[in-house]
Amino acid sequence: MSAVDRLLDGPAADLARAVREREVTAVAVAEKALGRVRAAADRHGSYLWFAEDLALAQAAEVDRLVEHGENFPLAGVPLAVKDNIHVETLPSTAGSKILAGFVAAESATCVRRLVAAGAVVVGKTNCDEFGMGSSNESSAYRPVKNPWDPERVPGGSSGGSAAAVAARSAPLAIGTDTGGSVRQPASLCGLVGWKPTYGRVSRYGLIAFASSLDQAGAFARTVEDAALAFREMAGEDPRDSTSLRTPVPDVLGRMKKGVEGLRVGLLLEAEAEGGLAPDVRKSFEGTAELLRKAGATIVEVSVPRVPMAVPVYYLVATAEASSNLARFDGIRYGARRGDGDLASVYTGTRSAGFGPEVKRRILLGTFALSAGYQDAYYGRAERVRALLRRDFDAAFLKVDAILCPTSPETAFRFGAKTADPLQMYLADVFTVPASLAGLPALSVPSGLSSEGLPIGMQFIGPVDSEPVLFALARSVEEGAGVWTLKPPDAL
Ligand code: GLN
Repeated sequence: MSAVDRLLDGPAADLARAVREREVTAVAVAEKALGRVRAAADRHGSYLWFAEDLALAQAAEVDRLVEHGENFPLAGVPLAVKDNIHVETLPSTAGSKILAGFVAAESATCVRRLVAAGAVVVGKTNCDEFGMGSSNESSAYRPVKNPWDPERVPGGSSGGSAAAVAARSAPLAIGTDTGGSVRQPASLCGLVGWKPTYGRVSRYGLIAFASSLDQAGAFARTVEDAALAFREMAGEDPRDSTSLRTPVPDVLGRMKKGVEGLRVGLLLEAEAEGGLAPDVRKSFEGTAELLRKAGATIVEVSVPRVPMAVPVYYLVATAEASSNLARFDGIRYGARRGDGDLASVYTGTRSAGFGPEVKRRILLGTFALSAGYQDAYYGRAERVRALLRRDFDAAFLKVDAILCPTSPETAFRFGAKTADPLQMYLADVFTVPASLAGLPALSVPSGLSSEGLPIGMQFIGPVDSEPVLFALARSVEEGAGVWTLKPPDAL
């Protein structure tokens, strides 16, 4: 095995160090990674578009500047980008046929920041159409296979990004998380995945799904890599009016201090509402024990409106989606179909371009916002959302972070939930609460099930608590040791 191969199998932090110290060149890493990206696309369907020219150009630039003493934190680190995040010169389709042929004119702010830190974009990853789904089965292109068991889903909607990192085609990937789309696939693929405090990472250059919930986040195999990505992606952006102006909290510094004295609340509603799979419950209890041994104080905590989060989310998210997706009309955006009058262009374009899940959501969201129903559905959902936020505020008077499983079960088989959208929506029971409340949350691998499938635990904290969340995750990572295991179907 070559030095570059070994580095691609390891953490991003080690790879960046080797490029900085000129043990290997970023170009050699990019060439090897691009081969792996092609292989991963063939094997798992994790990529939709390849970035050969861009990757080689970015890598050559990294090498040139490294020679001049530039100290890139992510020097030469191959980066996979979800297809609903713009990367200049590459297609951006959000996994939808309606955007077939669309090429991004510029890169999203979070991509630009990672590239400025030395990362090299190797490809665009498959996802559920417009980020709508929890299994990647709603991609208009192809499903994605989970490298832990190719007969199972990788989760969604950022399933391609998760499978790409789990398979070792890239050590780092980014995705969007509107209601769990980074955390849930991270959990199902044995990775660390985070979403920030709302506003901490710019949304500029993301294809909008539900603007009051959408956030960009990252996937990595280690907590340190995930924290590095946070540090580089976070920060004020004048091009996103919801971007936070306050200083970015220091995640890497806090991580070294451990978890001694931190108060962690076990979410009471996780047991009652989640229909937890037995192995997931066991891992939940095991994680609590592990944290207790590491010096944290474990208590139980209730967030009483967690059981209402799924219905609230599926009203708020669909309402916002019905408005955001109106721009795909065949005139401003979207592959045009139909001719003659305006109505036939709209109908032709949208009938042919959107898949069934997207249509379902537009219909639901339009209904929830329609005259006479808006207050009964959308208005009520927003009121319950405000109460959920208050529940969290009350809980965070007692604890520094809340622990619960990321997903009630491990990776499920293809087709297991496609016939019943409600079953699919319930997969999000533990991820949507933090999204609705605008809180940071992350998922960390906590064990394997009896079938050898990864289990993930989630930490949710108050606004700007990322340093505490990463410190807790680091402690679980050390105790559980899952990160050292390679999925059986990796490259
Ligand atoms: N699974 C959720 C949904 O389908 C979340 C998606 C997301 O975070 N983009 O809406």
